[in-house]
Amino acid sequence: MSLEPLARLDLSIAERIEALRTIEEEVRVCQNCSLAQGRTLAVPGFGNFESVVMFVGEGPGFEEDRQGRPFVGRSGQFLTEMLSKVGVQREDVFITNVVKCRPPNNRDPLPEELAACGDFLTRQIALINPRIIVTLGRFSMTRWFPGASITKIHGQVKNIGRGRVALAMFHPAAALRNPPWAADFERDLQQLPRLIERAKRANEAAQRGEALLPGTPHPGDPDYVEPPQDGDASDLAQSRLL
Ligand code: SF4
Repeated sequence: MSLEPLARLDLSIAERIEALRTIEEEVRVCQNCSLAQGRTLAVPGFGNFESVVMFVGEGPGFEEDRQGRPFVGRSGQFLTEMLSKVGVQREDVFITNVVKCRPPNNRDPLPEELAACGDFLTRQIALINPRIIVTLGRFSMTRWFPGASITKIHGQVKNIGRGRVALAMFHPAAALRNPPWAADFERDLQQLPRLIERAKRANEAAQRGEALLPGTPHPGDPDYVEPPQDGDASDLAQSRLL
């Protein structure tokens, strides 16, 4: 059974945006864990609420804590540059973290902090309903690739249920500290345009009423077989259901 939250498809886009704004307000005043005490500003997330892609990092750093936005320091600049290299604009994706307040001295988030903050991320995923979740670093990777090692599985794409895939990547800060990992980061990210293209096609198919049946491989899956490009419409519809 999938652990992924159900998408809130019962809501209109306007209602989903309103609910996402409500989450932002809740995060800004949240006192659910001890990270509230040291923060300047909480960082709920930022970007396109209708994106097919959500990036999930670890937690805010120094600059993020001052500005209240995710990935605005050196790591953010690196991420923006890498996205631009593969033809993806940062404004077109949504970016957030597993914890929304800065851990002191950028230490790792504690299990109780991850648990306290997890529901915000779950609700954001249900409302944005991204087809692709890109995990940046160990802590978001663990949510979808439990027990895995980032050095072994970076670049892997996994079907995580509810029509979504997760792509595991190094955290940009780790890539900046380690040049070989920066090269891996760039190579792993090169998969994104293809995944976005497939995700958009899957959404278009769903809008036409060609909903993928439960258990159907998602077009983002690495083992998904491309439908014939020149086949007729019935062939295409059939191939989506195989
Ligand atoms: Fe609340 Fe999350 Fe901030 Fe903890 S890290 S205070 S749970 S918003």
